[in-house]
Amino acid sequence: MRMLVVEDDAAIADAVCASLERAGHAVDHLANGKAAISALQEHAFALVVLDLGLPGEDGSEVLRKLRVDHDGTPVLVITAREEVDLRVRTLDLGADDYLVKPFSLAEFDARVRALLRRQSNRGVPILQLGKLSIDLAGRRVLLGEAPLDLTAREFALLEVLASRHNRVTSREHVIEALCTWNDALTDNGLDIAVHRLRRKLADSGVNLRTVRGLGYLLEADDDP
Ligand code: CA
Repeated sequence: MRMLVVEDDAAIADAVCASLERAGHAVDHLANGKAAISALQEHAFALVVLDLGLPGEDGSEVLRKLRVDHDGTPVLVITAREEVDLRVRTLDLGADDYLVKPFSLAEFDARVRALLRRQSNRGVPILQLGKLSIDLAGRRVLLGEAPLDLTAREFALLEVLASRHNRVTSREHVIEALCTWNDALTDNGLDIAVHRLRRKLADSGVNLRTVRGLGYLLEADDDP
C-alpha cells in the first residue's frame, strides 16, 4: 500500500520509512507540513504517519485540513510532546492513533498493522478468495495451506485488486497505489507484475483478468 510519512527528523523518518518498506509498502516521505497538505490533496494514501512539530505548517494543521476535506485516510500521529491536552486535541482533530517518541519500531509496526486492519477489511485481517487466504496485516498469502511466494510489488498488486474483487480497478488506480515519487511504476513494469502474479495464481481458483481499456478484475471461480 502507498503511505506517506511526514517527519522532519531525518533519523526517525529513515527508520520509520525503512520499517514500512520492509513490510512491503510503497512509502513517500516529506519533511514539511505545507508540502504534506498539497500532497494529500493530490494523492491517495492508505495511511499517513504524521509528526506534529513540522516546519511550514504544524502537523495538527495538516490533520485539520485533511479532515475538513472529508478525507478519512488513517493517520498515525507521532509526537515528542507528551502534554495530555495536545494528545487529546490531536485525537479530537481526527487522528486514528498516536505514538509518543521515543517509540520502538516493533510497537510502530503493530500500530500500523492495526490501523490497516481496521481500514482495509473492517477489522477482518484475512481475506478469503478462491483457495487464497490473504493476510492483509501480516502481508502473507496462503494458497491452500502453503505460503505463496510473492514479491512486495506482487503482494501490493494482489492487495489492491483483492480489496476490490469483482469490480474493475483501473490501471491508473493500480499505479497510484503501487508507485511512489522515487519509485515510479511504468506501464511496462505494471504489465510484468500482472503477468507474474497471474502465473502464480494459476492454481488458486482466482483469475486476474485484463479488461481491455478499463483495467483489471480479480474474481474467484466460486464467486456468484
Ligand atoms: Ca518534528
